[in-house]
Amino acid sequence: ESVANRIAAGEVVQRPSSVVKELVENSLDAGATSISVVVKDSGLKLIQVSDNGHGIRYEDLPILCERHTTSKLTSFEDLQTIKSMGFRGEALASMTYVGHVTVMTITDGQLHGYRVSYRDGVMEHEPKPCAAVKGTQIMVENLFYNMLARRKALQNASDDYPKIVDLISRFAIYHTNVSFTCRKHGANKADVNTVIAASRLDAIKMVYGMPIARDLMEIGASDNNPTRSVFEMDGFISSANYMAKKTTMVLFINDRLVECTPLKRAIEVAYSATLTKASKPFIFMSIRVPSEHVDVNVHPTKREVPHCKLLENAIRLRRNPKEASDLTSI
Ligand code: ADP
Ligand code: MG
Repeated sequence: ESVANRIAAGEVVQRPSSVVKELVENSLDAGATSISVVVKDSGLKLIQVSDNGHGIRYEDLPILCERHTTSKLTSFEDLQTIKSMGFRGEALASMTYVGHVTVMTITDGQLHGYRVSYRDGVMEHEPKPCAAVKGTQIMVENLFYNMLARRKALQNASDDYPKIVDLISRFAIYHTNVSFTCRKHGANKADVNTVIAASRLDAIKMVYGMPIARDLMEIGASDNNPTRSVFEMDGFISSANYMAKKTTMVLFINDRLVECTPLKRAIEVAYSATLTKASKPFIFMSIRVPSEHVDVNVHPTKREVPHCKLLENAIRLRRNPKEASDLTSI
């Protein structure tokens, strides 16, 4: 059974960056306004995510890492909406099958917090009282210590740390009301370091720098046809001044960070058809669609959205009238 659990866990937790994504999403779900990520040895030695969210209650600690245990399902109605966001109570449990998980947490109004470690879905010992400020800190150590082939493959592959920095950058430009830091263990300089931003554009400036932010134009679209679904999109796309060899596409659908390769390709095609210079776009897009149109649950990592035909068909980029380029043909 333990091998089966480990294999299933390895599907959910594929690499250090997928651990970071799950932990940060939990922090966001806990209402955190400040989230810090520390990574050692590309995440294979240590991934630590600290937040100032609402914390985890003492009573919940014993089952925290049981599979399919989530605090996010409270009623049938919730199940309907939450299902679409992919809350399945599987992330933390999976991590305990392929790494060593330690949780330190304190809930509001408590004098001290608790520290507890997990292995294979269960607590290793009773929660121990500890000093804590506010929120939760989760450490995942020695990831894939029991999956040596995976560990080797990751060690030989390119470092996952840039992916983690990229991930936190994306979260940081979406969640303008949350401050993020991301750094390597022992480094005194953070690779992402944001404060709460007044606007999305300010957040993009903070994360990606002025050169990108200067060349962005606003995009937006909606589809309020009563016989069809209500669809809304807003975001930014780089203008003709922007020169890049690689596309950067930051996509959130219904508040979830996802990837959608067909949509990205469609935009690239339209972009290159409208620009005379060879440049790839920077795109930030936030889309809202009725949850029944996006099934983010198909893949355990919830990252690639498989059913985005609707989006592909529905998206019309409204160009900024000041800009010469015509992006309306997407
Ligand atoms: P899910 O997010 O799908 O509910 P997870 O395995 O990611 O499942 O997390 C399990 C549970 O642990 C969550 O439902 C939540 O109650 C709790 N939890 C995890 N991380 C945090 C956190 N940073 N702050 C508060 N609660 C958390
Ligand atoms: Mg989660």
